[in-house]
Amino acid sequence: MTPGLLVRGVFRNEALRFAFADTTDLCNQGILIHDCDPASGEVLCDLLTASALTAVLLDEGEKYSILVNYKGGIAGKWLADADSLCHVRALPGNTRLSGAGDADAVFGTEPASIRVMKFKEGQVLNSGEVEVSMASPAQDLAMFFNLSDQVETEIACTRLFAPDPEKPVRFAAGVMLQALPDCDLEAFAKVREKFAAPEFQNALADMQMPFELKLRELASLAGLDSSPENFVYEGAGSPVYHCGCSVDTMRRALLTLGKDGVEELMKERGEARIQCRFCRKDYTFKPGDIL
Ligand SMILES: [Zn+2]
Repeated sequence: MTPGLLVRGVFRNEALRFAFADTTDLCNQGILIHDCDPASGEVLCDLLTASALTAVLLDEGEKYSILVNYKGGIAGKWLADADSLCHVRALPGNTRLSGAGDADAVFGTEPASIRVMKFKEGQVLNSGEVEVSMASPAQDLAMFFNLSDQVETEIACTRLFAPDPEKPVRFAAGVMLQALPDCDLEAFAKVREKFAAPEFQNALADMQMPFELKLRELASLAGLDSSPENFVYEGAGSPVYHCGCSVDTMRRALLTLGKDGVEELMKERGEARIQCRFCRKDYTFKPGDIL
């Protein structure tokens, strides 16, 4: 697998912040870890890619935790974490969505909720929750930034699947555009429309196009000045699926059962097993390890 790519930049004259991420590797890891069917895999790719893009908004040591709750549909609750190093992990709400019906059945007809919390060293820096109705984690996240943070945001994601059980994602990528304080919001609205155009989506999904060419192409398709004087960008890391779980964190998770609960489990089975829900790594504790 080739490492992913995260790029951050600005369009100076238009006062826009820009991010691009190649999340092919990240999405493959996520789908394989959670054994998602194709429809669930699409939702997971969308969430992982959008989460990876938010890494450009974080300062060193910060982390976003994103929870989307599709209350009325079978998709359920989807959780993702992304940190400033673009380490991303996720927990799908449902890994079996193929054949489940249309978008209404999957995401529900009532508004979903999205909660985004920003952390630094375990402390909550800020948090917000809004109702959303885009039936896509990436679009719902963009709506969160629009409504909760009052920052005009557009996110577009793409993914191409392959019939290969070891590498189900041929290509996945996303772009995010955000208005900076001096941005002309009418101009932003026009850019937003162009994001949805087939030419823009096709260029984003073109896996053969070298990424530097792709960035310039996407910029000009969005009606933005892509000259090197106006559009400046830099590498901001590699999106990877990384779970920060450890023996210590899992011991603490087990202890939420209470001392009595853990003792009982040890008595019954001689050991306590716990699996991390984000990376599905198994941890086994013997009586002396925990109490
Ligand atoms: Zn883990």
